[in-house]
Amino acid sequence: MAYIEISKDNYWYNIDFLSKKAGGKEKLMVVLKDNAYGHGLEIMAKLSCGFGIKKSAVKTLDEAKKISFLFDEVLILADHPPRELQVDGISYAVHSIEGLKKFPKQSSVHINIDSGMHRNGIRVSEIEEAFEIVVENKLHLNGIFTHFRSADELSCEQFWQNENFEKAKLVAKNLVQKYDLVMPKFHSCNSASLLRRKTPLDDDFARCGISTYGYTHLHETLIGEDICLKPVMSLWAEKLSTRELKKGDRVGYGGTFEMPENGEVSTYDIGYGDGFFRHDGKSELLLENRAICGRVSMDSFAMLGREEKVRLFYNAHYLAQKFGTITYDIITKISPYIRRVVVT
Ligand SMILES: *Cc1c(COP(=O)(O)O)cnc(C)c1O
Repeated sequence: MAYIEISKDNYWYNIDFLSKKAGGKEKLMVVLKDNAYGHGLEIMAKLSCGFGIKKSAVKTLDEAKKISFLFDEVLILADHPPRELQVDGISYAVHSIEGLKKFPKQSSVHINIDSGMHRNGIRVSEIEEAFEIVVENKLHLNGIFTHFRSADELSCEQFWQNENFEKAKLVAKNLVQKYDLVMPKFHSCNSASLLRRKTPLDDDFARCGISTYGYTHLHETLIGEDICLKPVMSLWAEKLSTRELKKGDRVGYGGTFEMPENGEVSTYDIGYGDGFFRHDGKSELLLENRAICGRVSMDSFAMLGREEKVRLFYNAHYLAQKFGTITYDIITKISPYIRRVVVT
C-alpha cells in the first residue's frame, strides 16, 4: 500500500529554525490548515505540540475541534461564523464587518485588516465600527492581523503593506484604551515575510505554513544564507504487478509509451485519484531520476524495472516546476486516505 513518510527530525528542525527567527516558540503559530498541507492534521498537531508550540491555525471548525486539546489557541482562518459559541481555545478570523456581526456573543475573534491584498479583511477606516460591535456583542478580541500578497516576490509591496498594518495597529491600540479592552495580539507574517526579515519580529507572533514543511518560494535574492529548510513529506508507492514486454509494445492509456527494447514494466499503487498529478505522458516525467512510462492512471502508474517500491518525491519542487504550479499545490492535494508514518 502506498504511504507517506513524515520526517519528525526535519519538521522539528524547521520549526526550531523558524521559532528562533520569530523570537521564541511562543512567537510561532504553525499553520495546519488543509490537513496540515497534506501531511496529516493530527500527526502534525501532535508533533508541533511535542516540540512546545502553543498556537496553531486551521481552515475550518471541523479541523479545529480535532486538535484544540493540544494547543492554547487554534485560529480558524477561513470558515463561516458558527451558529453556537465555540470554546476550548478556538478563535475565528473575521473578514468583514458583516461577518463580525454574525458571531455568537462571547466568541473569540481575530480581526483581519485589509492592508492592501484586497482578498479579505476590514479597512482601517472601519476599525472603530468593528470595536463597537466587539463591545456590543461582548466578543473577545484576541487578535488583529493582516496578510501580505507579495511576501515572496522581489518588490517593495511588502513594505507598503507593512506600513499600512503599522497604521492599523496604532488606530487599534488607541481604541483598546478608549473602550478599555485587553490588548489583542498583533500578527502579520507568513513564512515568506518571516524568512525575509532582517530585523526582529515587531508583532506578537508569525503564522508559518509552507516553511514548516520544508519549502520556500522566496525570490532567490531574498533567501538568506542561513535558510536551509528540510522537506518533511516523502511519498512512496508500492508495486502492484510486473510484466515482460517486447520492444515496440505500448503501455497504458492511449499507448503513449513504447518499449524501446525488450524488458520488464511494473505498476505502482498511486494515481491521480490519490491526489498525484495526471501526467499525460507527452513529456518526460522523472520520479527521483527515473522516468515513468506513459500516462498516469487514476489508481496507478508504470515504470521500467521490477523494484518493490518507488519514492515519488522527497522534494516537491521538481514536480511543482514540471506541472507549472507551486509546492503548496503538490503536497496539499495528496489524498488524506494514504497512510502516514512518522519516522525519525
Ligand atoms: C495559509 C496562510 C498562512 C500561511 O502561509 P505560508 O505561506 O504557508 O506560510 C498565513 N496566514 C494566512 C491568513 C493564511 O491563509
